Amino acid sequence: MIELRGLSRHFQVGDQIVRALQDINLVIPDGDYLALMGPSGSGKSTLLHILGCLDRPTTGRYVLDGREVGSLPEDELASALAEVRSRKIGFVFQFLHLIPRLTAAENVELPMVLAGIPPAERRERVAKALRAVGLTDRAAHRPDQLSGGQRQRVAIARATVMGPSILLADEPTGNLDRASGHEIIELIERMNREGLTLVVVTHDPEIGGRARRILKLVDGRISSDGKAA
Ligand code: ADP
Ligand code: MG
Repeated sequence: MIELRGLSRHFQVGDQIVRALQDINLVIPDGDYLALMGPSGSGKSTLLHILGCLDRPTTGRYVLDGREVGSLPEDELASALAEVRSRKIGFVFQFLHLIPRLTAAENVELPMVLAGIPPAERRERVAKALRAVGLTDRAAHRPDQLSGGQRQRVAIARATVMGPSILLADEPTGNLDRASGHEIIELIERMNREGLTLVVVTHDPEIGGRARRILKLVDGRISSDGKAA
């Protein structure tokens, strides 16, 4: 379970302070399916990065599965965050961040290399992750040899290969045509039905409407939080 209490994130830009998030209070139970919506610049990506432990709040608390991760002392923080990022949370970035020189299989394998998982187990889990996203026959292709939708599938396989309990996706269908976008959403919804907590940033009201819950941000604050219509 994710719990945010009185959380803010401010950026200092020159002599100006940008209040990207202000007084965020939020509980996301295990297995939830939440769409994060709001105008451009409203703080969606900032919130997702904090949830993914890729960034830290300026003030407030972030408690993940009963453990404070927002304001640990520096020495404890680095290892705690590395552990969370590696094992607990999968992140699908808006601009994918696949490594162009690596094949689909090698991209999916990367988090396990970093986590020190032995080669035989890595191979097995890569095969399973690629199968889960329907890309077994594209394992040896590099990103530039794949379609946009297939690249997004590789990104999802990479984000889930470590068996996280939470998947965070920043506009996962933003750069896809309608049909491919639909397939991607169905893929991650299937993972959600199998128990994965899902937080999806989207501009698309149709995608938002599929979520169990829509959280709307305006100017860095939660403007509404409710069941999808
Ligand atoms: P969204 O994803 O909803 O479009 P963001 O979370 O990216 O919005 O940004 C929220 C606000 O914070 C914007 O005003 C943006 O300019 C600002 N911001 C985001 N990241 C930084 C940063 N690293 N430095 C300074 N300002 C930032
Ligand atoms: Mg954004």
